[in-house]
Amino acid sequence: MSNLPMEVVEMLGQTIAKVVPVTIALALIFSVLTHFWACNPGAPWWRKRELVTDICYWFFVPLFARVLRIGLLVLGAGVVFDIHDADELIAFYDNGHGPLSTLPLWLQAVLFLVLADLMMYWLHRMFHGGEFWKYHAVHHSSEELDWISAARFHPVNLILGTIGVDVILLMAGISPNVMLWVGPFNIFHSAFVHANLNWDLGLFRSVIATPVFHRWHHTALEEGGNTNFAGTFPVWDILFGTYRMPQSRLPDNYGIDDQSAFPTEIAGQLAYPFRK
Ligand SMILES: [Zn+2]
Ligand SMILES: [Zn+2]
Repeated sequence: MSNLPMEVVEMLGQTIAKVVPVTIALALIFSVLTHFWACNPGAPWWRKRELVTDICYWFFVPLFARVLRIGLLVLGAGVVFDIHDADELIAFYDNGHGPLSTLPLWLQAVLFLVLADLMMYWLHRMFHGGEFWKYHAVHHSSEELDWISAARFHPVNLILGTIGVDVILLMAGISPNVMLWVGPFNIFHSAFVHANLNWDLGLFRSVIATPVFHRWHHTALEEGGNTNFAGTFPVWDILFGTYRMPQSRLPDNYGIDDQSAFPTEIAGQLAYPFRK
């Protein structure tokens, strides 16, 4: 008898055990910071109308990402490198492989961050157009944008985004050990850029994505939308002509054009693109 259901339950347990303490820490940090430096003063994050929706994504997304990442890495090794044996597979991915894996781990981590961010910049632009928008609209459907909104992504957006990019870079040979630094940084930074904070980090505003930078991305098209696509390094927006940081003004009003027709709960949002 297969013990797959037990493995899934175990993985679910492990993921929740990791996510809960991180969530409590982030909740404390951003409750304090947004109390003093709110970009859009008003109700605190825990009084958001769609809080339950965001909490569901907050737990569903790490679990989904983990299962999918492992599945795609196994599939990729089989299809591209003809590796099918479990021990061979572990040895293949354990410390990376090929020339990239010989670089110092810190350099692999930097490479991972920069290359992943460049790929995600273009994927993000792709998701803002044509047939892809309906999947990405889920992420933009947060009207009350705050740190807890950071995980609100449709699975299709995740596969052709973070998960796909992680898999490509790990298959290219970068050691999965970089995730020890990259993983926590990405979690904290994505919560940070979605937090209701008026921070643009002054001189560093064009070095690293800030709450003000990403909140402009979440404003409507009439505001000058379709800008600030970079997840981590605004340099991509500067290079490719999509950078927008209006001076002496802060972003407000987030959401999408057909907001009133958009489902507010997770099941409806996950089904939304397929109903279009
Ligand atoms: Zn977007
Ligand atoms: Zn966002």
